[in-house]
Amino acid sequence: MVIALLLVLQLGTPPIYDRVILAGHVMDPASKLDAVRNIGLSGGRIAVITTHAISGRDTVDARGFVVAPGFIDLHAHGQTPETYRFYALDGVTTALELELGTSDVAAWYREREGGERINYGVSIGHIKVRMAVMHDSGTRMPVSDGAYRAASPAEIADIAQRIETGLRAGAVDIGAGFPYTPAATREELLAVFRVAARMKTPIHVHIRPGVVGLKEALALADETHAPLHVVHINSAGLAETPAMLELINAARASGRDVTTEAYPYDAGMTEITSSVIQDVYKNAPDERLAELEWPPTGERLNRESFERYARTGGPVVIHTNTEPMVAAAIASPLTIIASDAYWQDGTGHPRTAGTFARVLGRYVRETHALSLMDAIRKMTLMPAQRLEARVPAMRQKGRLRVGADADITIFDPVTVIDRSTYREPSLSPVGIQHVIVNGVSVVANGQAVEGVAPGKAVRGVAAR
Ligand SMILES: [Zn+2]
Repeated sequence: MVIALLLVLQLGTPPIYDRVILAGHVMDPASKLDAVRNIGLSGGRIAVITTHAISGRDTVDARGFVVAPGFIDLHAHGQTPETYRFYALDGVTTALELELGTSDVAAWYREREGGERINYGVSIGHIKVRMAVMHDSGTRMPVSDGAYRAASPAEIADIAQRIETGLRAGAVDIGAGFPYTPAATREELLAVFRVAARMKTPIHVHIRPGVVGLKEALALADETHAPLHVVHINSAGLAETPAMLELINAARASGRDVTTEAYPYDAGMTEITSSVIQDVYKNAPDERLAELEWPPTGERLNRESFERYARTGGPVVIHTNTEPMVAAAIASPLTIIASDAYWQDGTGHPRTAGTFARVLGRYVRETHALSLMDAIRKMTLMPAQRLEARVPAMRQKGRLRVGADADITIFDPVTVIDRSTYREPSLSPVGIQHVIVNGVSVVANGQAVEGVAPGKAVRGVAAR
């Protein structure tokens, strides 16, 4: 008894962690750890990963569940408390708006400095900057000169300057969407890519459709040496998705810094008044309008209803892809999983609430399109690595290792599945059990925890 007591004194008292996650199946793509472990958290970081018994002031019983790094979404348009809640319930601990972005980076971060449910960040967006410089009358996306007027040399210089200013203000990187800005000349796009190259920042591009669109973006990147990230290859590629993945594979093999992403749905969504919809459907044969669905009613559009809804505006569902193309995009080792979450005025695309659970449930468990470890890699390590050259904070995310940020997602691999649909896009998934952001639970036992805001700003640093 005395000897035992002396031993305890000699070894020191065992640490009491802020919280412990016990007996979960830990899966970490970076270290390839794939085994039952206990994890101790202290001060918002991972303090220990061990087979030994540990204790903490708070305990999460993870028996039977997978413990993964928190999911990182590189393409999340909704950046509000409402959408951060959807993302958390889908296992996301960091949601970044890197395609549309913002035109005022400092203001964007200031609006959120009180803290959010999950980590957040934004790009300086060519679309938004162009709307400001060209005095576009649209609110969300360009509808007038921002889309349809060519910029003068002075305006191009202004656009490039504002993008550089945004990066210096801490934008994660640069966003662009060529179909939203059809009047932007090659000269203008080159000016934007040159900023990306000089600042060593990836440029996330919604390319023009198909192989032709991808080749255009690859040529711009080639000419300027800008790092390129092609967003939603599934909806940009449709039937050409496999050929486009081949092109990206070849570009990477020849040493170019090119990455891509996909979301697991065979229909897209965007604003009916945007040039992406208007340029395609305004003069299309009437029967093609049936590709479009109006979410509040579920009706397929015809010429009359298309023109009527275009006058009021709102998101429209676009049924143009097929399930085999989606499966090919999700299973490819090249793709990062990113939701392209879209939510506006209380409605949106089901991918907003279901992307990550859908990949885990449908594509991993039900159809075996990819392994669980590969799926987790596409949701954690790959997005972190895409950004970490410019965003040092990302080196502490997307991994479960001692010292990393305690951003952790714990799910039931047997039940995890999305529930959101085009009719009911806000339904949260099942099987996402616990979600921890900087050490704090934002989802516990499958339910959102209210009144917590542990999420921090994710920012880029200017290239030296
Ligand atoms: Zn897009």
